[in-house]
Amino acid sequence: MNTALENLDFSKYADGLIPAVVQDYQTQKVLMLGFMNAEALQLTEQTGLVTFWSRSKDRLWTKGEESGTHLKLRQILVDCDRDSLLIKADPTGPVCHTGADTCWTEKNSRADFLYYLEHIIELRRNGTDENSYVRKLCSKGINKIAQKVGEEAVELVIEAKDVNRALFLGEAADLLFHYLILIQAKDCTLADVVDVLQKRHQPE
Ligand code: AMP
Ligand code: ZN
Ligand code: ZN
Ligand code: ZN
Repeated sequence: MNTALENLDFSKYADGLIPAVVQDYQTQKVLMLGFMNAEALQLTEQTGLVTFWSRSKDRLWTKGEESGTHLKLRQILVDCDRDSLLIKADPTGPVCHTGADTCWTEKNSRADFLYYLEHIIELRRNGTDENSYVRKLCSKGINKIAQKVGEEAVELVIEAKDVNRALFLGEAADLLFHYLILIQAKDCTLADVVDVLQKRHQPE
């Protein structure tokens, strides 16, 4: 166990249970909230499957023990004052007991939508729908997709010279959409791009 985890402040809570927010490692969606004692944390690390202390069951509870939807551990982060956890995990299915992807069914951030859109593009690209714009574009090959990104970039540049905000935003959206198609056609993901940006970023 790393030192940050050894120094968790369980004493902060009357029941000795630390809140643990689970986030999707890939999409960054906030998935669920659970509670952990030292044993749950230890089991989580040992097994690689996120395990909580269930207050309703009054016992250790490995997420997915009935539903089969497990949370595969990727990373555990401790907050600033060592009294809460952020757990990054890969869910093997819908995480909420209602069958929803996450316990917060409203779209929980704008960034999520880009990852969702990326997923939709993937479905369309690999799908059989003859009318799908994405499928048609992708079937024309990488050069055509790249050319389309170039065209949308030029359209955005043209709109940048204008004062019409709606037209500018429309072209900005077109570019982002085709950009997502291009990186996918190159077998890359938005997360890969964000990783590069994050590595370059120097915190102030
Ligand atoms: P599971 O661990 O997925 O097999 O679910 C077992 C039981 O745990 C469910 O019947 C619910 O009572 C509860 N449960 C499952 N998922 C959640 C969740 N995301 N938040 C709170 N309780 C849950
Ligand atoms: Zn805190
Ligand atoms: Zn739920
Ligand atoms: Zn356009």
